[in-house]
Amino acid sequence: MSRDQDDERFGRDDQAGDDDDFPARAGAAGAQAARVNPPVRGLPGRPPRDGRPVAEPRAAEGLDLDPGPARNREFEGIVHRMLELLGEDPDREGLMKTPQRVSNALTWLTRGYELDIAEVVGDALFEEEHEDMVMVRDIELYSLCEHHMLPFFGKAHVAYIPDRHIVGLSKIPRIVDAFARRLQVQERLTEQVADALEQVLKPRGVGVVIEAYHLCMMMRGVEKQNSKTITSAVRGSFRTKAETRDEFLRLAHGG
Ligand code: ZN
Repeated sequence: MSRDQDDERFGRDDQAGDDDDFPARAGAAGAQAARVNPPVRGLPGRPPRDGRPVAEPRAAEGLDLDPGPARNREFEGIVHRMLELLGEDPDREGLMKTPQRVSNALTWLTRGYELDIAEVVGDALFEEEHEDMVMVRDIELYSLCEHHMLPFFGKAHVAYIPDRHIVGLSKIPRIVDAFARRLQVQERLTEQVADALEQVLKPRGVGVVIEAYHLCMMMRGVEKQNSKTITSAVRGSFRTKAETRDEFLRLAHGG
């Protein structure tokens, strides 16, 4: 039996109240699974800049952006120069704050460099005898292609078959995000999410499918509009067992 995201959500809401890190359970309601520490090593990050946090995007961010909490004058200077090289006048009114906005936005969009998978997962790893496929579908995904620094975006579908350990369901989108918020290629992103889950959970198998639209292709007219790139990565029983892989792919593609 497999359960999709909606079932998992229902289970979680039903049994765990407000704790969004507590996963759905396959067994009797009420009995809490024991938390275990994630045996994960950190990922290479970017060096901290002046110890300042990444600026959160502001709801009011628009034409009248207030100065963000993080300023990076060197970055802003480069954007200023880029505007000149594009033939713009960086000092005209509409562009006055653009270097600051671009600096803040790009830092935010690549904040994955500052995330550590062990920290992302935290203590949301649980002992559990559940042995069926757990799947989180339609995880929103935004990334930047490393070739053009233009967005690619779409959905990730992530599944695994536990081996005594399960992870809080809300952590799976956060793991995807930690890898997506970097300069990426879709193929590597897919592999990294699969590897991270394998590392964190030591499951019997992992499967990841990502379907995404690439603005570097669409906006430049390289490919037909609306052509979607689909990548997948399978590990363990998802690789070795045809029926597991088939079930995963069927669920990933909305079967
Ligand atoms: Zn590209």
